[in-house]
Amino acid sequence: MSLATEAKTLLDQLGVDAALYTGGPMASFSPVTGEQIGALVTDTPATAEAAIARAKVAFKAWREVPAPKRGELVRLLGEELRAAKDALGRLVSIEAGKSPSEGLGEVQEMIDICDFAVGLSRQLYGLTIATERPGHRMMETWHPLGVVGVISAFNFPVAVWSWNTALALVCGNSVIWKPSEKTPLTALASQAILERALARFGAAPADLSQVLIGAGDVGNTLVESHDVALISATGSTRMGRIVGPKVAARFGRSILELGGNNAGIVCPSADLDMALRAVAFGAMGTAGQRCTTMRRLFVHESVYDALVPRLIKAYASVSVGNPLETQALVGPLIDKLAFDAMQSALEAARAAGGKVHGGARASVASNAAYYVHPALVEMPEQTGPVLEETFAPILYVMKYNDFDAVLESHNAVGAGLSSSIFTLDMREMETFLSARGSDCGIANVNIGTSGAEIGGAFGGEKETGGGRESGSDAWKGYMRRATNTINFSRELPLAQGVVFDID
Ligand code: NAD
Repeated sequence: MSLATEAKTLLDQLGVDAALYTGGPMASFSPVTGEQIGALVTDTPATAEAAIARAKVAFKAWREVPAPKRGELVRLLGEELRAAKDALGRLVSIEAGKSPSEGLGEVQEMIDICDFAVGLSRQLYGLTIATERPGHRMMETWHPLGVVGVISAFNFPVAVWSWNTALALVCGNSVIWKPSEKTPLTALASQAILERALARFGAAPADLSQVLIGAGDVGNTLVESHDVALISATGSTRMGRIVGPKVAARFGRSILELGGNNAGIVCPSADLDMALRAVAFGAMGTAGQRCTTMRRLFVHESVYDALVPRLIKAYASVSVGNPLETQALVGPLIDKLAFDAMQSALEAARAAGGKVHGGARASVASNAAYYVHPALVEMPEQTGPVLEETFAPILYVMKYNDFDAVLESHNAVGAGLSSSIFTLDMREMETFLSARGSDCGIANVNIGTSGAEIGGAFGGEKETGGGRESGSDAWKGYMRRATNTINFSRELPLAQGVVFDID
């Protein structure tokens, strides 16, 4: 069966109307073979405006529904996702080029965040705060925010939507999603799954959740609209540089989840077997197309020769292949643009004195698919392409001899998403996690940079955008806070002793 036929079978099974993805102007491709799997009907800035108007109406009704009741909708979404897990996971694998276990793993993350959000729907707590005025009480309350616009990247085509939507819904907001133009089919499928949950729930307003299919111009309508209270945008730092200032210019709120240039440090005391496995998996897995992929590795000179040749061997022997038909760890790049960007970065690394191992195109499947052998590049120093994220499997390896200096180098890039240290030395570990250590939103010890558990707040600093999603208190980003003071005394003492002569 062709992938186009299989995708259609899955979409039918998931309840997506075929009219939405056949005969439209926007082609969608599977990176696994490069074949076209959909022709989508697209939105325009005008249809996006209309969707925003509908979402505003939906918000006004939804904000009145008690939060635990809103949680019931998300509980039903979790149930529907459990039922659809196999089909949606497979569709993710076809459309984003992930292995079957990664496709299923992504849907599991969606289920997990639903469970988290259901509990959260009874825990949207405010504080009570000691007041200096007698006979008064002061407290904080949290209220729904408005229409939430979600813009997402191709590499986690459905999980990022669910991270935002599960929280936004229990927090009392309506949602409009502009998925990546490279992965629209999985978005239609996710929306169909949510619609089943909405039908079972029964009492939700129409248009509580909508999907807009299109490219940046459609996303831009959300970004510029004064009626979209929050933009949660996941994607490249390039996109964030455009979106962030536009939202700020209208005093909107944004959660920016942008690019990473994640590093690991391997110290003299490290368990090298563990470090080797963590680095190999974190740098080559998902063909280097995770925001948390390890891209830089600093190795202490005393263990360099014990680690790096073994790592180079692991790179040379890793399996590259069709993720749907083989057990290959490394699947396809998303498209030719990604392949070209990788080759340019390797050229620049060579020009800067780097020794490149791997990196060539692998002959897999058709000419229209882009598979590569992952590249390990030994760099004399952190220059040129090492300073930027290239969204492909390239690991730049550098030698260090001084711990304070390596911390400086670690932090000397624009992005600040994820980081890890491999050490058994308590002083190094604690320093790495301290105020003068890693400046990233995620700092790990003896595990790699990639992967995230939904219980923690996810996001990064600096050019990664500063946003936080998913667990911990990330929900506060989806609500507005009010500080309330209540006077239950018979006095009204005014500041500065002001007295009005009113008798
Ligand atoms: P991208 O920036 O090309 O696109 C992301 C989304 O932004 C797409 O939906 C796109 O249509 C939209 N977009 C682009 N320009 C826009 C504009 N001017 N206005 C409104 N919307 C616009 O990113 P990509 O190639 O899909 O994804 C890869 C990038 O995403 C990498 O840099 C990766 O690190 C990053 N990423 C970050 C995280 C995170 O949580 N920090 C997670 C996943 C991916």
